[in-house]
Amino acid sequence: MSQQNEQRYAELKQLLSTYSYEYHVLDAPSVSDAIYDSLMTELKAIEAARPELITPDSPTQRVGNELKGGFQKIEHRQRMLSLNDVFDVADVEAWVKRMDKALPGAKHEFFADIKMDGLACALIYEDGLLTQAVTRGDSFVGEDVTNNVRTIQNVPLRLREDNDVHVFLKGRTEIRGEIVMLKKDFEALNEKQKAAGKPTFANPRNLAAGTIRQLDPKLVAERPLTFIAYDLIRDIPEEIPTNMMAYESLTKLGIRRNMQASVFDTLEGVMRFVHEWDVKRHDLPFNTDGLVIKVNDRRLFAQLGVVGKQPRAAVAYKYAAEQATTIVKDIVISIGRTGAATPVAVFDPVQVAGTTVQHASLHNADEIARKDIRIGDTVVIFKAGDIIPQVESVVKELRPKDTERFDYEQALASQYPELAFERQGDDVVYRVKGSSSDLILKRSVEYYASKGALDIDTLGEKNVVALVDAGLVRDIADIYTLTVDDLLKLDRFAEISAKKLVSAIQAKKNPPLEKFILGLGIRHVGTQTAIDLANRFQSIEALASATLEDLETVEGIGKVVAESILAWFADEDNAELLKKFEELGVKPRFEEKTGALNGVSFVITGTLETMSRDEAAEKIRALGGTFQSSVAKDTTYLVAGGKVGSSKLAKAKAYGTEVIDEPALRRLLNE
Ligand code: NAD
Repeated sequence: MSQQNEQRYAELKQLLSTYSYEYHVLDAPSVSDAIYDSLMTELKAIEAARPELITPDSPTQRVGNELKGGFQKIEHRQRMLSLNDVFDVADVEAWVKRMDKALPGAKHEFFADIKMDGLACALIYEDGLLTQAVTRGDSFVGEDVTNNVRTIQNVPLRLREDNDVHVFLKGRTEIRGEIVMLKKDFEALNEKQKAAGKPTFANPRNLAAGTIRQLDPKLVAERPLTFIAYDLIRDIPEEIPTNMMAYESLTKLGIRRNMQASVFDTLEGVMRFVHEWDVKRHDLPFNTDGLVIKVNDRRLFAQLGVVGKQPRAAVAYKYAAEQATTIVKDIVISIGRTGAATPVAVFDPVQVAGTTVQHASLHNADEIARKDIRIGDTVVIFKAGDIIPQVESVVKELRPKDTERFDYEQALASQYPELAFERQGDDVVYRVKGSSSDLILKRSVEYYASKGALDIDTLGEKNVVALVDAGLVRDIADIYTLTVDDLLKLDRFAEISAKKLVSAIQAKKNPPLEKFILGLGIRHVGTQTAIDLANRFQSIEALASATLEDLETVEGIGKVVAESILAWFADEDNAELLKKFEELGVKPRFEEKTGALNGVSFVITGTLETMSRDEAAEKIRALGGTFQSSVAKDTTYLVAGGKVGSSKLAKAKAYGTEVIDEPALRRLLNE
């Protein structure tokens, strides 16, 4: 890891410790859980790659935080652990695999419940009487909050008598659960605050946590809290063989728990439960932060043990967050069809609300200045529902030392040295100087229709000018809407010429993909690049969702070209344009080459003895194969001209790419 990365690791560690202190000790977090979780995921990834860096003070190593003071400290008989997060079915499968490895041959029955977003608390009952209530604290030692918990109406001071659970009324019974404030109680309390002219509370979780750790029980009694249990512990574990039985016993003992908790034989069943609650959880009376999935058999659970601060036999399933953090790799500017310059931030790809986000429009220069977004910054991305991703804010604490404010005019000058820009009056947008927006539009329509691109007969410069000037064409896709009647309104057209143009345009509704890509006029994408892109991605949709890394694996495409392509597809105007093409029935077609190497892709490393790289590339392409510049998921062969570097080999291994030598390549080329 470079020095820079080590510094990032140290900074992340420090920032997360601060957030954790604000959350667990002050009950006043300054960032959302999604932001905390996103940065935590990054920290965990660094620690997974470099385990020797982990120190005991890393936030990954601790549960909760140091205690606040004012309460007596009580040691837990059994540690109150935290849970490992999983985010999708692949993570869940990986978890099951880890368990299979630790305990081969064991059959798992799964138990799943809703995860309440509150404050964890253990209630101790002796011979059925509530004697103590202790917060989770730092997992080993918690705070004695018995007096406060006694004010919670649904916590029984004596457990309910029931023949089935008689045994739990004898000796020590520990009941663990979450203290939450129900949504309706939270709203009512805030209404009261408002009516009294007092400030409202930010969220139920922190209000619940802050309330239970008040020194004055009278104040606690005024705030309606609810206890919902998730565990039942006895000194003799055999008394409770399964988690489901623990839940059933809780109900019999008069303790509230989620009735939705269920047992599943298969992972498919668990995943159905996961999907079901993704939607329904919003209607629950309390806030949730996912689901808890456990092994149902408590003997197996115990055998699977604890890894770090988490039990191996349970995970927390977190639903897709609408916020995430990522790093701005670059800011590229796209020039739209009206000559307007739109800045686009290019990110390390990140999951937000269930989709991968790798770029977002930054709208204009003022917006960048206002949020002070810089290249290298860690930013918070958000995406509510299916709306386009946006940069919400910058995590300034993680800003690298050597960054500078983004100089918009300088960026325009360096990215478009051949153009001049201006900003008129109080317009927030920079536009290409001197060229009316129509000029750019005319050029792009002309380019789309030109010989190298779609090759639309008779749609030359003069006709394009006439169509744009008459307002019949406002973007490239508009040409497909033209009718003979439209054209006859213009002096230039007579019946025959109008019909000829309309049919020439309509004849190009299924252009070859590479011609269509070229016709879009993406900066730096010439004829050969368009062909390479078409061969590699095979559809406009695939090209539009390609990552920077995907694009850079195409031979001949470097960072500048890749970013230009990314910026083009990130421009909202262009997204609209593509949608319009589709609506008008314009469907580019990709024709599979019918060569012997069809669908086979190659990367060459080192020097070949019998041919140059260019010759090899040409021969591969001639047989329908693809030539790539670096090993990617879909690379078939890595051709070794000499020794292969270890990083390339590792990548080839990871992607299942076969490593072959020059004679093997020649055999494939039929030489
Ligand atoms: P966790 O996510 O590791 O989950 C474990 C806890 O879930 C258990 O201890 C238990 O108390 C609780 N739980 C709720 N419902 C349960 C159920 N049905 N079954 C079993 N357990 C259940 O909890 P954590 O260690 O408190 O994790 C940290 C959480 O706090 C994260 O969600 C994180 O986003 C948040 N956090 C936020 C900030 C911030 O600044 N916003 C800072 C620190 C932590």
